[in-house]
Parts: sequence; C-alpha cells; structure tokens
Amino acid sequence: MKKEIKRITCMCGLCGKTHDIPVLQYEDNMQIKDKEVWYLKTVYYCKNMDEEYCPEEIMDENLMSAREAYRREKGLLSAKSIQHIREKYGLSQEEYDKLLGFEDGTTKKWETRTVQLPDQDEMIRNSWDNRYAKKMLEEHKEAFDPARYEKIMEDVKKEDLL
Ligand SMILES: [Zn+2]
Repeated sequence: MKKEIKRITCMCGLCGKTHDIPVLQYEDNMQIKDKEVWYLKTVYYCKNMDEEYCPEEIMDENLMSAREAYRREKGLLSAKSIQHIREKYGLSQEEYDKLLGFEDGTTKKWETRTVQLPDQDEMIRNSWDNRYAKKMLEEHKEAFDPARYEKIMEDVKKEDLL
C-alpha cells in the first residue's frame, strides 16, 4: 500500500519542470549482504511521466532504512545505538576507531553507510562496559595524544562510580 506522506514543490528530477511532487512511502525489499529485507521505501512521484523516482538523498535514506532493517533482523546494533555507545565516553568517531583498534573511518561508515560484522558488533557492545573500554584504551594508548588519553581515561573511570 502506497501512502502519501507529504507534497513538495520543486524541480522534478524526471521531467525537469517545477510541479507538485507527492512523496510516497511503501514497503519494499532489497538485498543486503546475504539477506533480502523489507523496509519502508520513500519515492517521489512525477505526474507528467506517471513514474516514481528517487533523488540521491532519498536513495541514501532508503539504503539506511534497509540497512537498519537488516540490523534488526540479524540482531545487530543500530547506527543510533553505536553512536550512543560511542558518546557515552564523549568520543569522536575517529577516537572510537582508535579505542577499538579499527581502521580510520570505520565508525563513520557504521553510522552512515555500512553494517558492522558480527564480531565488530560484539566489540561495540562490550565497549558499553567501562571496564572493557578501559582495557581497550590502555591497549591502544599510543594511538592517542597523551593529554587526550588522560581525559578519556578520566571519563571512562568516572563511569566506574555510576
Ligand atoms: Zn515531473
């Protein structure tokens, strides 16, 4: 069932004219890795061509929505949950990569474009536990600037008292 969620007026990506564009949503499926998942797809509709299309930013949204459906089905942490865990210790995406010993840009990818592997998911989950975070921080000490290291260590230890 297609549902109109709103109407916008802008230059249409299909016919090139400026007109009213209904924004529609419906359940669709997509292959993500090894699995076909159902997710809520958003499309624009051009009445002149009687055709649906996805502008680039909507395509990104749809991909994100499909990846989140995949994560739910596989019992993996959502992008939001990863961000939440990372921010528990006030870490930037780059610092969280360093903390867990991942390649630069890995956390950013998880939060925006790719799905973490099951063993990576396990590490992210574990890092919610401040004892594990402390252990990882000590292990990757040399990756951090000394002053920043001390500050993060302080924050990780603060969690001990809670
Ligand atoms: Zn059009």
